[in-house]
Amino acid sequence: MTDVYRSLAGIVGEDYVSAEAEEIYFYARDAGLMPAGKPDYIVVPKSTAEVQNIVILANKQKIPIVPLGGSMALSGLTIPHRGGIVIDMKRMRSILTVNENARHVVVEGGISQGALYSYLNKNYPHLQHNIPEAPPATTVAASVVIHGQGRLTQQYGYTSDLVSGMEVVLPTGEICKIGSCSMSPGWFSKGATLPDLSSLFFGWAGTTGIITKLGIKLFPRKKMRVVETFVRDRAKLVPDILFNLTHTEVLEDILGGSQSGIHFDPPMLKGYHYITMYYSGDTDDEMEFKRKMIWDSLVEFRKSKDGGFMWIPPTIKPGLLETPQKWVTRTLADEKKGGGFTYTGPIVLIEKYPVFARKIEEVGAKYDVAYAGLMRVVGRNHAMMYGSGFPFNRADPDLMERVRTALHEMNEFSLDQGGIPWKADVEEQKMAMERMDPNTLKLMKTIKHVLDPNGIMNPGNWEVP
Ligand SMILES: Cc1cc2nc3c(=O)[nH]c(=O)nc-3n(C[C@H](O)[C@H](O)[C@H](O)COP(=O)(O)OP(=O)(O)OC[C@H]3O[C@@H](n4cnc5c(N)ncnc54)[C@H](O)[C@@H]3O)c2cc1C
Repeated sequence: MTDVYRSLAGIVGEDYVSAEAEEIYFYARDAGLMPAGKPDYIVVPKSTAEVQNIVILANKQKIPIVPLGGSMALSGLTIPHRGGIVIDMKRMRSILTVNENARHVVVEGGISQGALYSYLNKNYPHLQHNIPEAPPATTVAASVVIHGQGRLTQQYGYTSDLVSGMEVVLPTGEICKIGSCSMSPGWFSKGATLPDLSSLFFGWAGTTGIITKLGIKLFPRKKMRVVETFVRDRAKLVPDILFNLTHTEVLEDILGGSQSGIHFDPPMLKGYHYITMYYSGDTDDEMEFKRKMIWDSLVEFRKSKDGGFMWIPPTIKPGLLETPQKWVTRTLADEKKGGGFTYTGPIVLIEKYPVFARKIEEVGAKYDVAYAGLMRVVGRNHAMMYGSGFPFNRADPDLMERVRTALHEMNEFSLDQGGIPWKADVEEQKMAMERMDPNTLKLMKTIKHVLDPNGIMNPGNWEVP
């Protein structure tokens, strides 16, 4: 037993530290395509004080630290590229307070999306958070860290936009409050009118600190929620359709895409570009008012036969209304069996939908891989996440290599189209930094050095050359 192991056991207790081969194997990889990287230790802390003591120990001894939620970002963000200590946050899963009137909740930094959803569903069914379609075991804090998107992103923005306060353990071990909670008992704003420090922790892939507590804004959840699907066979008019739809300001969420080589629900959407939209209301009148606005907004496309609303069979509808939509994991991510799925999801202008849809079709055919082009509208047509998803079987190295090449080609294409990589893996981060304004890079380097002088936090990620 090493001194480090003994110290870690002293902090979290014998049962919550491991250097066993099985656990090392498990925490060395994720479901994506990045090569494995062996951690030396895994710890599962229960409190902010424990996280702080682990960080102080690691900083003193210059040992890398990797914060981990559900490890489902799929782009190697929790793979310990330089070994060290993986801090699995899952035991920090308490819901601390709900302010029903101010519509926010304060949670610990390891709570899963599923746990928060279930809690709200049971105790505050009229409130909701920005839940993604990701597996329920993924964490709310990680969704904040990587600018995740969920069912409220079209209305309110990325999950990171919806933070209302944070407690963070800095790489040097200080515990720091961010937002209104830094000077008030209220966790109602991540910045309010103060200098806003929250962005120091968003988009940095856990390289600037560990979120141990988190305030998250909640939004009204109405009694009825409906899904409608508009389809067309050509990608060209999709941006105009989305423009009209977002102009109504009555939709909660807009998803869309096209896919091939994948068992498709509903099957009749195969070969089409589909736009799936959600709206909700408390009364039949409200629902009818919204439905009419949405249908009217697309009247020109309906009349010209440039698309139409599609009847969704009752066998399919519940799946599209599920939270999260399990078919995404079941049908898409697990299509090839054998536990492999990856997707790159740049944030890009919606006017680029047709070229992305064409490109993924071309790449799918070129490398003979199944693909899904998945789009989620961000804001009122301000941008979209265009995901190029590729399922693969880990027992098929040839398929894995073809998927890797296809993904790389989509990443390069996206950068050429002005896309900003989302939850970028190390390779994409390097590609992005090659294109970044040098003064932006210099600022990033300065910030990172000030916060993490010993470079211990999730090293390999966002390392400015
Ligand atoms: C089928 C499927 C569907 C998906 N759909 C969506 C979707 O609709 N929307 C979406 O946004 N994503 C989606 N994803 C991607 C991904 O699962 C989510 O983005 C999810 O939020 C990742 O959470 P995680 O807990 O697994 O993160 P992890 O992979 O564990 O961590 C991600 C990053 O956050 C850091 N981190 C984790 N916890 C902390 C902390 N407490 N403090 C500081 N840093 C931390 C890690 O170091 C890492 O850099 C999907 C994935 C799959 C497989």
